[in-house]
Amino acid sequence: MPETTPRDLLKAYFGYDQFLPLQEEIIANVLDGRETLVLMPTGGGKSLCYQLPALCLDGLTLVVSPLIALMKDQVDGLRANGIAADFINSSLSQSDASQVRARALSGETKILYLAPERLALPGFQHFLGKLTVGLIAVDEAHCISEWGHDFRPDYRNLKSLRTLLPGVPMIALTATATEKVRQDIVEQLGLRRSQTFLASFNRSNLSYAVRPKRRAFDALLDLLESHKGESAIVYRFSRKDTDSLAANLSAQGFPALPYHAGLDASVRRDTQERFIRDEVPIIVATIAFGMGIDKPDIRLLVHFDLPKSIEGYFQETGRAGRDSLPAECVLFFSYNDKMKQEFFINEVEDRQERETARQKLDQMIELCEIRTCRRRYLLDYFGERWDEDNCGGCDTCLTPGEEFDATEIAQKILSAVIRTGERFGAKHITDVLLGANTKRVRELGHDRLSVHGIVRDLDAEELRHTLGLLVDHGLLAKEAGDYPTLTVTVEGREFLKRRGQLTLTRPKLEVGVRARRETGRLDYDRALFEQLRALRKEIADERGVPPFVVFGDVSLQQMAYYFPQSHQGF
Ligand code: ADP
Ligand code: ZN
Repeated sequence: MPETTPRDLLKAYFGYDQFLPLQEEIIANVLDGRETLVLMPTGGGKSLCYQLPALCLDGLTLVVSPLIALMKDQVDGLRANGIAADFINSSLSQSDASQVRARALSGETKILYLAPERLALPGFQHFLGKLTVGLIAVDEAHCISEWGHDFRPDYRNLKSLRTLLPGVPMIALTATATEKVRQDIVEQLGLRRSQTFLASFNRSNLSYAVRPKRRAFDALLDLLESHKGESAIVYRFSRKDTDSLAANLSAQGFPALPYHAGLDASVRRDTQERFIRDEVPIIVATIAFGMGIDKPDIRLLVHFDLPKSIEGYFQETGRAGRDSLPAECVLFFSYNDKMKQEFFINEVEDRQERETARQKLDQMIELCEIRTCRRRYLLDYFGERWDEDNCGGCDTCLTPGEEFDATEIAQKILSAVIRTGERFGAKHITDVLLGANTKRVRELGHDRLSVHGIVRDLDAEELRHTLGLLVDHGLLAKEAGDYPTLTVTVEGREFLKRRGQLTLTRPKLEVGVRARRETGRLDYDRALFEQLRALRKEIADERGVPPFVVFGDVSLQQMAYYFPQSHQGF
């Protein structure tokens, strides 16, 4: 009999013709019995890296995953492909769990998903010890690290797998690739002799833009208008805001449904289903949404509120454009949101945890504030170099800023910092300059200073932005600490003394940034594309499958470009 290769299995069990980048090398490494660390962005195709080997190896493959809510879907998906998969977590009844155990012990099961907290139960360890295990897969491996954005203490239990199942190779997978987290994973899981596979984190079809959060609802409507009929996700911070924004969008003729952990499981499932079937184009969600969402044609992804970390932001934006067609990621940024996040951070009791959270937020703010390429910043964050001058797909690269004479505003700001004694942060300086009549301002006597209320032509956000520019420019310095204070640097004093001129660059705020990568796109017939989409929906409904299963957008665009006339041409 001819030997079946991984490629044959790929087609037979998963229905794919080709491997995605790195998958083949990773699978070969695993099948060689070596330990493996996989760092790949969301959507990179990590699951296949352990699911396919599971079919070739003797014994079963244990998959540890923190995403209990998704296990059932994953297992259902595998079973639909004819793969003997099971899961054990707290959602199972006693009798179901014992059936799952029996199947695993009998050698019937090829893939068994586990929630990490199971490993703390002595009875469970005993059960694991009796299994024949060919591979241990640790999904979302960054959860083991306190440096990650999603630390789960239960993941520390994974160490016990090493003693429980000595000699069984491990594959750890994550979409978080910062150096610290990576080292932590290697250390904690004892992966010292592993081979590391680092995929590029560049998602070239995604464009990134940060916009000031002003008249944001209108701006959102414009964005949705420009993506009319396409799928979009809008992320919000709180459940309440999620509900109200979905209602407001619907009222404006943009059908949207809310999604958050406070909704009934059945409602959530239904919403997810309607989104996947293209029955509702917009989901307004907390970050609870998207973990298991595997919709390839999300064209617009909006962060309406500030994310807590770059990792979170990158993971969420990663859900857009999985089909490699252009997709737009827009974040609405305000310092007010920053303060809200800081408020929550200050509530955190553990000092170390608080520090980490603060650091992550600072990096997120930095991404919003930079005037250089955002893609470069993101990739740099994940330890990847990006040398191109212009990425062609972020707002800072696409819309060069405009220069403005900042002499007067700089003098006002620097004076205010000096007059208040260089003991305050950006928020207070802004308040003073704008003439705020708050209790704090009055108590400090800052309402009696000559700088109180001398800025009239900027709003708080613009002023904060300008303060940031002066820090960038080295005229102001921001002291680190819990409440970073602003001080005037030697250069700043020099500038005041010699009454220098100052020109700064600010983004052209009025211009709607439609950051889109047009290269490599077909100039297809839009009307025909819409007709094909409608037909696709009909066929999908008849067969009871999501539309993208019938044809992806890429295929429809190609049809609407090449107009195939015969079956062969098709
Ligand atoms: P990750 O866990 O890295 O986010 P997934 O394992 O969920 O990624 O895979 C992302 C998407 O890519 C899924 O829709 C999956 O079905 C698809 N996929 C994985 N491998 C392949 C392949 N070889 N060919 C085509 N699609 C693939
Ligand atoms: Zn760029």
